[in-house]
Amino acid sequence: MDDQLHLGEDENMLVLRRAWDRAMHTLANRVNKPSFESWFKSMKPVSYDGERVVLGAPSPFACEWVSKRYGNLVREVLCQHLGKTVEVSIVHLPPEKRPVLGEPPAEEAPSVRREPAPPLEPEPIPYEKPILNPKYTFENFVVGNSNRLAQAGAMSVARAPGQSYNPLFIYGGAGLGKTHLMHAIGHQVLQEHPRLRVAYLSGETFAQQYIAALREHRIDAFRQKYRNVDVWLVDDIQFIAGKEHTKEEFFHTFNTLYQMGRQVVFASDRPPRELHALDDRLRSRFEAGLIADIAPPEFETRVAILQKRAQIEGIQLPEQVAYHIAYAIEGNVRTLEGVLISIAARASVHGKPITLQLAEEVLARHYVDEKQVPHVPTEQAVLQAVCQRFGVSTQDILGDQRSREVLMARQVAMYLLREKAQLPLQQIGQMFGKNHSTVLHAYNRVKTSINRDKEITRIIYDLNTVLEH
Ligand code: ADP
Ligand code: MG
Repeated sequence: MDDQLHLGEDENMLVLRRAWDRAMHTLANRVNKPSFESWFKSMKPVSYDGERVVLGAPSPFACEWVSKRYGNLVREVLCQHLGKTVEVSIVHLPPEKRPVLGEPPAEEAPSVRREPAPPLEPEPIPYEKPILNPKYTFENFVVGNSNRLAQAGAMSVARAPGQSYNPLFIYGGAGLGKTHLMHAIGHQVLQEHPRLRVAYLSGETFAQQYIAALREHRIDAFRQKYRNVDVWLVDDIQFIAGKEHTKEEFFHTFNTLYQMGRQVVFASDRPPRELHALDDRLRSRFEAGLIADIAPPEFETRVAILQKRAQIEGIQLPEQVAYHIAYAIEGNVRTLEGVLISIAARASVHGKPITLQLAEEVLARHYVDEKQVPHVPTEQAVLQAVCQRFGVSTQDILGDQRSREVLMARQVAMYLLREKAQLPLQQIGQMFGKNHSTVLHAYNRVKTSINRDKEITRIIYDLNTVLEH
């Protein structure tokens, strides 16, 4: 680094140059590489009077961009390295006027003109606010292990678009909340950064609009529309794969936005590696950002989603009914909510509250396939699964051990041997050296706890899953 006092330079300027050099290292770690390369590398310290710092950027656009996006970050980092609080303004400094290393800043450089750069004339590019579902907010999104990473990634890009993960790629099966998260990003950005342009569209819409633009010779307008957004949210991008021309246009749009440091978010029903027909260049770009999957929600998350939805819709949902629905429906949140809505509709039509019985009826009639032949596990399979779940040994549960785990494991095993392995009470009694009424008692206790006791429900649910495969 150039550590000498330059001709015509004061102490302050030397201090600023040193601090800016160190600040650049910090910034390189704080922003993503494309942003750093395109914005920060070409910036230069211009002047410092001990209170106010002026930095120069090579174009009016860069100047506005950095001020708007990174203004606070730059000030924070610079203050930290200067060891004091200063005001920072960023001005447009044409390249020929920028101080060259070893030369003092030219006399007419705006070191005397300390006011921030005037705002740019807004470009006359048409922009329509995206249409977003008002219910798809972060607040209404229930977080569990199955979607934690995707939610955190979405939140982080919404808070600081272009500055954390870029691109963000969310994938997962149907009805697991991808579209909900995309809309939530849109809402949050518009709320926190009202001046940013947000576009939300599906891969299919992109393809259709592109084809229409080609046909009607409006390709320039089409390009302008998407290449000038700050946050580009593209849902269901699997539709793009395999469409030759659209794919190419899509790639260029992405590239343009990405190189300008704009935030890009994609959602897809499959991971990038399975988007075979998509451009390899595009896929390797995904890897530079964050790829987050959403898995089907676990039991607890399903219960929480039902309760949240009931709260939003003003539905009185007894806890055990929530357990019951969550127990019966897995995999698709849309179906889960569909069941809740149809139970609520029925209750309201009859002017009755929601009961377990009503839930059972609706489920049996519409959602659970009764013709399915249940799989009957062997007694070994049951014992092994139970022991593994509770972390106890077979000797423990077949013997007389009476710790809480063992007692619970024993009762659960008795229940499952009857319910799933379909063994007679007598035979189960013999296995455990107990009479059949003890077995019946254990069986009933577990049975009545299902859908009432969260822990037992969860355990039985997990064990059923294990035993069905
Ligand atoms: P996808 O786009 O993945 O097919 P959606 O985002 O359309 O799924 O979600 C389907 C429905 O499930 C929506 O009504 C959505 O609000 C709801 N949903 C999905 N996941 C959650 C969640 N974690 N919390 C609350 N609601 C959810
Ligand atoms: Mg969707």
